[in-house]
Amino acid sequence: MPIAEIIAIGTELLLGEIQDTNTRHLALRLRDAGIDLYRATLVGDNAGRISKLIQEAVQRSQIVITTGGLGPTVDDPTREAVALAAGVELEFKSELWQQIQERFKRFNRLATDNNRRQAYIPAGAIAVENPVGTAPSFIVEFPDCCVISLPGVPREMEHLLEYNVLPYLKQRFELTGTIKARVIHVSGLGESQVDEKVADLETMKNPTVGLLAHNGVVDVRVTAKASSQEEADQMIAGVVQTVLERLGDAVFGYDADTLESLCAQKLNTQNWTLAIYACGLDTELHRRLQHIALPKLIFETLEDPLEFETLKKQYSAGQQQVALFLNLKKEDSKHTLTTHLQSPTKSLEEVRAFGGPPLNAPIWAANVTLDFLRRNL
Ligand code: ATP
Repeated sequence: MPIAEIIAIGTELLLGEIQDTNTRHLALRLRDAGIDLYRATLVGDNAGRISKLIQEAVQRSQIVITTGGLGPTVDDPTREAVALAAGVELEFKSELWQQIQERFKRFNRLATDNNRRQAYIPAGAIAVENPVGTAPSFIVEFPDCCVISLPGVPREMEHLLEYNVLPYLKQRFELTGTIKARVIHVSGLGESQVDEKVADLETMKNPTVGLLAHNGVVDVRVTAKASSQEEADQMIAGVVQTVLERLGDAVFGYDADTLESLCAQKLNTQNWTLAIYACGLDTELHRRLQHIALPKLIFETLEDPLEFETLKKQYSAGQQQVALFLNLKKEDSKHTLTTHLQSPTKSLEEVRAFGGPPLNAPIWAANVTLDFLRRNL
């Protein structure tokens, strides 16, 4: 199986001005195609540095994909950098220039001399026409590696990847396999408790099982390499079933599911509204609840812990309303969260403690609250 790496080019990425979403998209699509991705690097708009990186990459990988830096200006360095790395000159391709001019004509504009720059690609490269933008792409074949340069604009990059690059890679490397993953979301158990229950699965080679902890939620990722999507699905399903049997109702969802979406689903099914009275919490829980479809949400912040006690005693449950009273206390470096719930069917209280980094306490408190809520709706 070929090994790939990604090089995302753009000084604005290094300055933190834009987020590198192209690498994520490329990584997911390479995974789906069964290609192992070993590295992803960010580099600024500097032809020398990019070229050095490409020279290193072609020594260790069979596929190198660059994104960005193919624009028409002098500071778009990718064409020059790839040519440098390959030890060739840039070559003018009249058919690319023709395509660029035609594209401009379609939008009633004239291509400039700058755009002509985009018709130059490294000598001997395979030109890849760009039907959704002006920056053509190209593939340079090294003896044991292919360097594929794609535009930075996500829509253009995604289009060329789908319709040109992946078909090229499938043919060149005779790819028939796939890598698929399923993420099982767990709450109410700590990472070490989950680890204890699935430790033997974590030593498997295929599918692989890995844990990722998020302060109150643990993800169990099951990844399978197989020759078809169906085979991968089957391999994953077996392991998911085992994890489910071992973790029981600590499993609350899969892949894009979130604790808040599960709570919303349960509230909506029963036609209950939610009222939260929170003391000592920051905005994390409120922010997450605002991103889901709830018919009605009351969220009140209490300044004084005494108010928490008084309010929960005085509260009389509405017919269709769930009330949650939350009190997050910090003592030394430990956080304690009291969650008290009154719903049309029950009234109960729980106290949980958190000893992790204080900065993570708000995320933990939000997850613990949502876990408490989803278990008691
Ligand atoms: P074009 O000539 O079509 O502009 P380009 O290859 O020159 O393409 P860049 O100039 O590097 O691309 O980037 C153009 C825009 O694309 C950036 O301003 C940014 O909005 C977006 N972009 C670039 N790289 C990335 C990336 N890695 N992730 C997400 N967006 C990106």
